[in-house]
Amino acid sequence: MQDELLLRYSRHIMLPQIEYAGQEKLTQSHALIVGAGGLGAPVAMYLAAAGVGTLTICDFDQVDLTNLQRQIIHTTASVGQNKAMSAQATIAALNPEVNVHVETTRLNDEALAARVLAADVVIDCSDNFATRYLLNQLCFESKKPLVSGAAIRFEGQLSVFDFRHADSPCYHCLYPDVGDDQALRCADNGVFAPLVGMIGTAQAAEAIKVLLNMGQSMEGRLLLLDALSAEWRTIRLKKDPSCALCGQAESVD
Ligand SMILES: [Zn+2]
Repeated sequence: MQDELLLRYSRHIMLPQIEYAGQEKLTQSHALIVGAGGLGAPVAMYLAAAGVGTLTICDFDQVDLTNLQRQIIHTTASVGQNKAMSAQATIAALNPEVNVHVETTRLNDEALAARVLAADVVIDCSDNFATRYLLNQLCFESKKPLVSGAAIRFEGQLSVFDFRHADSPCYHCLYPDVGDDQALRCADNGVFAPLVGMIGTAQAAEAIKVLLNMGQSMEGRLLLLDALSAEWRTIRLKKDPSCALCGQAESVD
């Protein structure tokens, strides 16, 4: 690592849990960020600032004026631009050492599976159940850690499904039967601006921990945040033996 990079990352390298070896590992790591909206903005910015070497950012949507209230990776000048491209431009200014790949079209399942397989960690920053279930399935199949987050109104949640471990629960264990009709969208319900930052920042922290196998991740726990009452609750989450996705595999293994 060059002197300038040692300086850039010095406050990480000082941490005994990270040190030089951990920072070097981050620079060689690849994170897949699905969604460059309210959650994806802090995730992408913190992972880039922290020196995660390669980021793949997927978003086929354009920056809209209504996004700017909370999607802090985008600026007024980027209204109308593709969100992944806008995020890439912000990251280039923040940390030019980071390689950013962008996916600006809607990926089919096969293409998304390939992106998941290429990544060391997957961060779900999407806003719909179809994508959450699909990412959960693809991560389960390729045994990749999935950092899951969601935020609506004043309520947020976060968990880690680490499929490197056979006993990890999955998103489907948590929500066995949720249809698309129950998807809550910010456009219809509103969302408190800093809430997505609180959850997204926690997702970035979990992603770095997962990459470095550091501390205790949120695997097996669900974090529930009510920003209105400032209550952070953590509940236990166990693998469901009858889960349609991960339950059967357990008996096969
Ligand atoms: Zn499951």
